[in-house]
Amino acid sequence: MVNSRRGFFKKVAALTLGAIASSNIIKSASVATEFLEKEILPIDGGKYTLPALPYAYDALEPHIDKLTMEIHHSKHHQAYVNNLNKALETVDGNVLGSPQTLENIFSKMVLMPAAVRNNAGGHYNHSLFWQLMSTKGGGEPKGALAEAIKTQFGSFEEFKKLFTDAAMKRFGSGWAWLVKTKEGKLAISSTANQDNPLMVLPEIDIKGTPILALDVWEHAYYLKNQNKRADYITSWWNVVNWEMAEKLYNL
Ligand code: MN
Repeated sequence: MVNSRRGFFKKVAALTLGAIASSNIIKSASVATEFLEKEILPIDGGKYTLPALPYAYDALEPHIDKLTMEIHHSKHHQAYVNNLNKALETVDGNVLGSPQTLENIFSKMVLMPAAVRNNAGGHYNHSLFWQLMSTKGGGEPKGALAEAIKTQFGSFEEFKKLFTDAAMKRFGSGWAWLVKTKEGKLAISSTANQDNPLMVLPEIDIKGTPILALDVWEHAYYLKNQNKRADYITSWWNVVNWEMAEKLYNL
């Protein structure tokens, strides 16, 4: 009984992985995660660690306040890192595979426990979110990304409106994304909880490389804006690091 169950699981796992490997999803994911994992997501002794912010906690004032940044980074993000390391200890090495990268984990999401999904997402999403804000942020993108936004959404203003709508309409906790799909098109999407567009899951309808990430969990704005998510989003547009978004788009 045990053996046949195990055999069944192995067969399902092999079929699922075969389907994943034969798609282009991994390919489109790798460019963004490779960059992030090499340069931004430190691993120490086989454990994920909290990446330092690329600026001081008060650097995004007055748009994003110091206390929110400090708690968000040193408490919330740290907890995702700690819980990811703990959750990964429960996953079979053969399922995790090698190298044990977040890209690899996202591509096998269907085989992972919920704690890995929530915390691998939490770690990746926040690491990206910090990079996509800057003291010299705001304004509009330049170059190829600006052109693509204009071509696909009509104008930057129209894109901003659609992205803001996606962020406003996310019920409960989640994220809004600008995604570069495997066809090279831009798409606006929103995911629940700590899911992201790199995860290979049936409920992630728009898959691809995240170019822009906006955290709309209440912990991202409640101290300063209380229940007013719209005010937080308006503030966030002033700190968007378009240079980083352009870099991710052009990778
Ligand atoms: Mn958050």
